[in-house]
Amino acid sequence: SGGHDDEVSKAERANRAQEIYGTQPLTIFSKIIDRTIPADIFYEDKKCVAFRDVNPQAPLHFLVIPKTPIPRISEVTEDDKELLGHLLVTASQLAKKEGLDEGYRLVINDGKHGAQSVYHLHIHVIGGRQMGWPPG
Ligand code: C5P
Repeated sequence: SGGHDDEVSKAERANRAQEIYGTQPLTIFSKIIDRTIPADIFYEDKKCVAFRDVNPQAPLHFLVIPKTPIPRISEVTEDDKELLGHLLVTASQLAKKEGLDEGYRLVINDGKHGAQSVYHLHIHVIGGRQMGWPPG
């Protein structure tokens, strides 16, 4: 069966969220997916959504997020492989479409040391200027 990769209804996502979070509330990103709160969504397919970060760290900064509310990269399993691949391929295709032909940075923050603030998995796509290394 497709697991995370099937097209899922709002109710099915809520059930999956309930499994993952128990009694914890959904994050703001689930509300963005469901259009309960506004966001600059510029791409959507059956598995993911991309929207512009409200606090951009570069001329171009957007997030690619799964519709299934996986909290963080450290919690993924083998069952998530196809979805994770899809998120990366989508990030690459959208970066190209947005004209980031000089390169860009993909970031996944995890937990406290990773400075994660929203516990719904997301890939940052950051570009349009020269990045430094190491990151802060
Ligand atoms: O990786 P981390 O959890 O720290 O990043 C969360 C990101 O989500 C931040 O860059 C923040 O600006 C963004 N955000 C957003 N729209 C919201 C809430 C947060 O773009 N409504």
